Amino acid sequence: MGLDVNSIRKDFPILEKKIYGKPLVYFDNAATTQKPSCVIEKICEGYYNCNANIHRGVHFLSQQATEAHEAARENVRDFINAGSTQEIIFTRGTTEAINLVASSFGDSQCKEGDEIIVSQMEHHSNIVPWQLLQARKGTKLKVLPFDENGVLQLEQLDSLISDRTRLIAIAHVSNTLGTINPVKEIIRKAHEHNIPVLVDGAQSIPHIKVDVQDLDADFYVFSGHKIYGPTGIGVLYGKERWLEAIPPYQGGGEMIQKVTFEKTTFNELPFKFEAGTPDYIGSTALATALDYVRNIGIENIAQHETELLEYARTKMSGIEGMRFIGNAPHRGGLVSFLVGSIHPYDMGTILDKLGIAVRTGHHCAEPVMQAFGIEGTVRASFAMYNTKEEIDILMAGIERARKMFHH
Ligand code: PMP
Repeated sequence: MGLDVNSIRKDFPILEKKIYGKPLVYFDNAATTQKPSCVIEKICEGYYNCNANIHRGVHFLSQQATEAHEAARENVRDFINAGSTQEIIFTRGTTEAINLVASSFGDSQCKEGDEIIVSQMEHHSNIVPWQLLQARKGTKLKVLPFDENGVLQLEQLDSLISDRTRLIAIAHVSNTLGTINPVKEIIRKAHEHNIPVLVDGAQSIPHIKVDVQDLDADFYVFSGHKIYGPTGIGVLYGKERWLEAIPPYQGGGEMIQKVTFEKTTFNELPFKFEAGTPDYIGSTALATALDYVRNIGIENIAQHETELLEYARTKMSGIEGMRFIGNAPHRGGLVSFLVGSIHPYDMGTILDKLGIAVRTGHHCAEPVMQAFGIEGTVRASFAMYNTKEEIDILMAGIERARKMFHH
C-alpha cells in the first residue's frame, strides 16, 4: 500500500513554511525529523493539563502523570518488542544511552587490556564513550572496517574477536553511508563467543521494523527526535540480566530504595537507571509519535523511503561529476554525495537559498570521511513526508550549483 503523502504532509505544520520565500524542502531528517501536530499538541497538553512530578506523589495530577509516563514505557516496549518494561530505560537520547552503557557496563565488566569492537562507520557518539572508557580502564578499541562501497567486512570480525572482547557496539544503519548493517548476523556471531552487542538504532528506528528479541540484541538505543518525537528523550533497551548485573549510571532521586549516610540501596529496574526527574512530558509525546508511526505502518514508511531513494539515486547519477559516498546494496533512505570539486558547504549554502535543507560536513562520523579521504559530504535524508517533486527541486538546485561553479 502506498502512503497518502499529501495527507501526511498536512499533519506536519512546519512543512508549510517558506524559506527565503520558497517552499521548505526538508531533507535533513537523519539529523532530526519534523513533528506532527499530534506530538506538538501532546507536549502542550501535558503542560496544560497533566503536569506534576511523577512517582512518589499521592495527589491526582502526580498519579495521572505517572500513569502517562509508565504507559509510554509500555508503548516503547511494544514498539521494539522488548520482553518487559523493566528493560526500557528512558534517557536523553542515543548519546546518553551509549554513555550509560559505556560507564555502567564498561566500568563494571571491563579490565585493563579488555577489548571493545566498534565499526569504522560509527557516529562519534558510539566511538568517544568507548575512548573515555579506554582512558578510565585501559581497554582497547578495535575497529571493524568497511569496503569501498561502505559495506562492513564481516569476514574480518572473526579475527577481531578475541578472548578479551567484552562488547561489540555497532550502528544498525549508518548516518553517513546509509548502509544497513547485518546486525542480526553480527549478534549471532558475537553470541557464539558469549560477547554482548549494543546496537545503535538512531538511524534504524524510524525506518526499519525493530524487534529486539528477534535480533537478540543485548542493548538497543535510539533517540525520540529522529522518529517524529520530541528532543531530549530517548531509550536504552537492555536485556534484564545485563541491566541487573551492571551498577547505576547516575545517583540521585528516583533511583534509590533507601538512603542513609552509611549505605544506600538502589531501586529496581528500570528506575535504577533513571536518576532525577524524568522527562515525563517527553516520554508521553514520544509515545504519541510512536502511535503515529504505528498507524501509518513502518513497512509502508520504509517502502516509500526506498522509492524516494531509488528515484533520487537514478536521477542524481545523471548529474555530471556526481559521486555517491556509500554504495552498499542494502541501504536506508539517504544519499551522501559530492559533485565535482564543489565544497559541501558551498553546495549546502546554495541549496539553502533555494529553501532546501540538507546537511553538509562530516556528519559526526569523521573516520568515515578519513576512509574516503574527503572532508565531508552533502547528505539528503528522507522521511515519510518527502516527495519525488522535492527530489526534482533538489536536482535543479544541484544543477544550478554545478553551473555556478562551472563543473
Ligand atoms: N548514532 C547515530 C547513527 C546517529 O545518526 C546519531 C544522530 N545523528 C546519534 C548516534 C546521536 O544521536 P543523538 O544526538 O540524538 O543522541
